[in-house]
Amino acid sequence: METNFRVQCPYCWEEIWMEFFPEDGEQQESITDCEVCCNPILYVVSFSGRRGRVRAEKAQ
Ligand SMILES: [Zn+2]
Repeated sequence: METNFRVQCPYCWEEIWMEFFPEDGEQQESITDCEVCCNPILYVVSFSGRRGRVRAEKAQ
């Protein structure tokens, strides 16, 4: 099961690797500051079966 997801910061477009687990729920949302530009990123995660998708949005 792949739990590492590569996303792009919606502010500075840096690539970020994030880890999410299907055990935490089919639909997940979390806000984490970008390591590069420190802006808050809203991660919207959805798991379907063994596949996961992650969307990164501006949290403000
Ligand atoms: Zn950033």
